[in-house]
Amino acid sequence: MVSSGDVSRLFLQSLLSRGIVSEDLCKTLYAKCVEAVKAADNSMNITFENTEEALEDVIKNLNASLNDLDLELKSIQDELNGRRFFALVNTKDDELAQMATDYTPAEIAFFRAIVEQIILARNESFSLSSLAALREVSAIKPKSNMSKTQAETVLASFVAKGWLLRSKRGRYSLSHRALLELYPYLKSTYEDDLLYCTICQEVVTKGMACHRPNCQVRLHIHCFDRYRRRNSACPSCKIEWPRQATDDPLVPVGEAAVRDGEDGKRRVKERQSNNDDEEEDDETEPSQQSQPARSQRAKESKKKVVVESDEEDEEDAVPTQEDSPPPARRRSSRR
Ligand SMILES: [Zn+2]
Ligand SMILES: [Zn+2]
Repeated sequence: MVSSGDVSRLFLQSLLSRGIVSEDLCKTLYAKCVEAVKAADNSMNITFENTEEALEDVIKNLNASLNDLDLELKSIQDELNGRRFFALVNTKDDELAQMATDYTPAEIAFFRAIVEQIILARNESFSLSSLAALREVSAIKPKSNMSKTQAETVLASFVAKGWLLRSKRGRYSLSHRALLELYPYLKSTYEDDLLYCTICQEVVTKGMACHRPNCQVRLHIHCFDRYRRRNSACPSCKIEWPRQATDDPLVPVGEAAVRDGEDGKRRVKERQSNNDDEEEDDETEPSQQSQPARSQRAKESKKKVVVESDEEDEEDAVPTQEDSPPPARRRSSRR
């Protein structure tokens, strides 16, 4: 005997097997699931109109059932063109457990290190060069013996499975899937480092910033386009804006914010709990001096959220521009 629950089950299965699905495909899949169930029992009285509203209803109902499992069908809009995508998200998981079936702990640690460099990237570029991404192998803790070739393969797999995007310039950034499915992790780990769109309140990793110094306004490209059609001034500081999000003097958010070779040193997030551990270790085991520089820095920079790290730069040093701090941007003044 088939029931209307079968449609939901089929639909969820088809979403799960695809990972992340565009809104159009979502509607098509749901319509197919309805057809399939009706084909098994044509006395079933289920209908589905191929509209945004009908899909919204379907998702609202599904989420009511998924809620108890801490799962939710969530959507995200492409930051550039505003197209909507859906995925099933674990709303409680803030530890990347959804990657554990595909990757080893060392590979997940590698991914975590890459994500950190993307989030903390200078000038709000939210992207990482290939060279810098490969170098993150040495940041894996505990130390891994992953070779550069293996790291390249794993990186390609992160892209193939939709966790990272790789641009024409060869820079890595966070994909829709990562922003959707890993949001609990990103939020709990990088609360102070994420930027949010003034219009839609979603995370911005590709978009624009108002050019007035200290103005906090950041918008997705599609949100800018929509807003700019009716308004010519910044919603916060009221400075006049040019027509296009990419026009001067507006400031890019995303990889356009950094030129090749200008990334500077890698940055690391100070973690309060880790610091405490390290300090405790230092106190209880004064002989443990394996990373003296690091513990010292942890103590010195208790209040600093992001610190420069030089421990991995010994191999291929990036051309150093850290004497001249990056112009224009004002990470410290963000919300
Ligand atoms: Zn937006
Ligand atoms: Zn402004």
